[in-house]
Amino acid sequence: MMTTTATTEISHAVTEFLQREQRLLIDGEWLPAQTGATFATLNPATGKPLCYVAAGDAADVDAAVAAAQRALSAWAATPPAQRERLLHRFADLMETHKEELAQLETLDNGKPFRVAYNVEINVAIGQMRYYAGWPTKLTGETYAVSSPGFHVYTRREPVGVCAAITPWNYSLVMAAQKIGPALAAGNTLVLKPAEQTPLTALRLGELALEAGIPPGVLNVVTGFGHTAGAALSHHPGVAKVAFTGSTEVGKAIQRAAAETIKRVSLELGGKSPLILFDDVEDLDAAAEAALWAIFSNSGQNCVAGSRLFVQAGIYDAVLERLATRAQQLVVGPGLEASTDLGPLISAEQLARVQRYIEIGRRSGATLVIGGERLGGRLADGYFLAPTIFAHVADNAAIACEEIFGPVLSVFRFEDEEEVIARANALPFGLAAGVWTQNLSRAHRMAARLKAGVVWINTYDWFDPAAPFGGMGESGLGRELGRQVMDAYTELKTVWVKVE
Ligand code: NAP
Ligand code: MG
Repeated sequence: MMTTTATTEISHAVTEFLQREQRLLIDGEWLPAQTGATFATLNPATGKPLCYVAAGDAADVDAAVAAAQRALSAWAATPPAQRERLLHRFADLMETHKEELAQLETLDNGKPFRVAYNVEINVAIGQMRYYAGWPTKLTGETYAVSSPGFHVYTRREPVGVCAAITPWNYSLVMAAQKIGPALAAGNTLVLKPAEQTPLTALRLGELALEAGIPPGVLNVVTGFGHTAGAALSHHPGVAKVAFTGSTEVGKAIQRAAAETIKRVSLELGGKSPLILFDDVEDLDAAAEAALWAIFSNSGQNCVAGSRLFVQAGIYDAVLERLATRAQQLVVGPGLEASTDLGPLISAEQLARVQRYIEIGRRSGATLVIGGERLGGRLADGYFLAPTIFAHVADNAAIACEEIFGPVLSVFRFEDEEEVIARANALPFGLAAGVWTQNLSRAHRMAARLKAGVVWINTYDWFDPAAPFGGMGESGLGRELGRQVMDAYTELKTVWVKVE
């Protein structure tokens, strides 16, 4: 039994940051909301405010979009090598302030510091570096048209002022994933982070200025979705909205964007299947992967493997291992070194997940482990035990709807045809995982699963070079990889008559 727990000590820089009332970044200036309104961002491990943040609304969005418009032509005309240097400097500063960024993310979101520091901040820096390399690599093409006497070519031009609306689950990564390609392509940007986790976006804004990115190129408007977020998605001055969040809000954003035919990219929710065939080479490794597929980030992960399909021959063994391992996971404050799972993001999210657990219980599914909110020293935070349901009906709400919490549904299956049909039965299509030693089966499954990303004998891997996005109601367009550069550029075709 553990008696002492090493706890990360909050750095002086973070303490100082939290003592300041945080403002909006517009045109290189830190401004209060025009109404003067603020809101508290909470630490989900304690339920207590961390600091107060400006509540920007439509008027502040107007000012930020105007600043982004003013900055656009000079930024677009900045030589690509110079844009690269600035974005690399930005990435360097993220690296220099890595510990601080990880601490802010842990405090604001609740996630384990260990993961924020060793994984997420590196992912965000890696993305920024990857996109920092793009400005000098953007190209058009020439075309072999059949009409004689023409030279026809394409140019890649910035789309214009972009808006990024991001969720709370991986705030810094989501911000970097949008800032990087938008700025690399010569666009300017207004970022609206989630109300629950605005802090790393604000710190990024400071670092962007310190890196020398000109005023107005990156603006950060904190505030609420129904005010600041909605104003951005309706704004006639915004040419493109990049959104990551729930399917429901994604639909509202697409409707709003239709008014002015904005470019829209949507990274939405999922209910991703992870399928274990009974020929898996290493059952322990497969069960461990399934465990983390659902429980990492306390299940608040768009690609969470929340539907686990296990072939009959290994079903009992996998379920037993999962239950044993889930019981060993340490749920606690993200700043403690021993913590595997932090709290859920908010009281609302906790209540929502608890509602699903209750619905699951009443649906006749078997609650194998977990299900309860944790009390004692954790009673003020939003901590939930890792939860596993077995014998879940395919049409039960817990089997069909995105819960976005540490709740796994386990299903038994007999054969390949059956599991493909069941895995593909939902409107979502974000991710899927398959564990098998049969090479042909792996490729057959990869081809037939409805998912924007399929992981074979692994799960939840990302790289800035590899595109990511969803099919069906899980999204529209792709982020990451060279593909995202298409989303942040317009293609112009030029016909030249050559006499
Ligand atoms: P959310 O409620 O959809 O919020 C996402 C963002 O949209 C927040 O910044 C939110 O602002 C804003 N927003 C809310 N209502 C809006 C409106 N009417 N107009 C414009 N913006 C609005 O999602 P969330 O609860 O933060 O995040 C969880 C969801 O994100 C899950 O469904 C998850 O699957 C999805 N997600 C998807 C991916 C992916 O890559 N596919 C990655 C991560 C998360 P406020 O927070 O201030 O309301
Ligand atoms: Mg918070």
